[in-house]
Amino acid sequence: MKADIHNHTCHFSPDASETIDELITSAISEGISVVGVTEHYEYDNPDPDDDITTFDINDYCRTFSEWEKKCPEDLTLLMGIEFGYQTHTAAVIDETAQSAPFDLVILSNHLFRGRDVYYAADGCYDLPKKQRHNEYISKMAEMCEKVTNFDIAAHFDYINRYNPDVNCRLLYEDCPAAFDRFFEALISREKCLEINTRSIYKARAKGCPDVMPDSEIIRRYLAMGGKLISLGSDSHTPDTLGICFDETYEYLRSLGVRELCYYKDRSPVTFSI
Ligand SMILES: [Zn+2]
Ligand SMILES: [Zn+2]
Repeated sequence: MKADIHNHTCHFSPDASETIDELITSAISEGISVVGVTEHYEYDNPDPDDDITTFDINDYCRTFSEWEKKCPEDLTLLMGIEFGYQTHTAAVIDETAQSAPFDLVILSNHLFRGRDVYYAADGCYDLPKKQRHNEYISKMAEMCEKVTNFDIAAHFDYINRYNPDVNCRLLYEDCPAAFDRFFEALISREKCLEINTRSIYKARAKGCPDVMPDSEIIRRYLAMGGKLISLGSDSHTPDTLGICFDETYEYLRSLGVRELCYYKDRSPVTFSI
């Protein structure tokens, strides 16, 4: 079974070009039976180049119920949201997350020192690798400690997605204390770690020698008692839904992962891989 629970449409995410009809068509052709729509919601986005902000939650709920009517019976469409975190927006995220009947709530850290990583090439990539990774993962940990109302921490490796250095791979050994704090925050709150296959796809497109997340990161999460893992292709275009899923399943199995999960009505549903 395949569940791809992190995706965007052009109807509510300004950086996406796929329509809901294209997303549904791709899901059918790729044999993906559970699809999450997780539109961007970035309150008080400080990046002057970024047009991702917020949207009307009631409008989203109304639109989503129309989308559900288009869905074939054997495809489960999940209503989700992806909040962009900043320290001062934790309370707004908690409040907004409980204001609608979401199936899943994803938390993300898209910023590094106030700029979206997408635009931050000059600033953050000049820093020593370990310093950059420690700062980013520490912020992921803070995010999971400060926000209460969420289910999944997304793309922990986002910091390198647009890094032109092909040897920039994020390793557990770069910042073990920050990773342990991040995992402790997730595990003690029964939250889920996402493996984002868009990161794998982007790393391969750049020519990185190792495209999979560092095995020590996954091993440490499992060793600390982490059980909840989800997969998302973070698709913004119809051609990347479910991208790299087969090889990621195989990779995770080789590390001892036997179950993945998706969220329905804010509760995890596990399935074997
Ligand atoms: Zn994201
Ligand atoms: Zn996303």
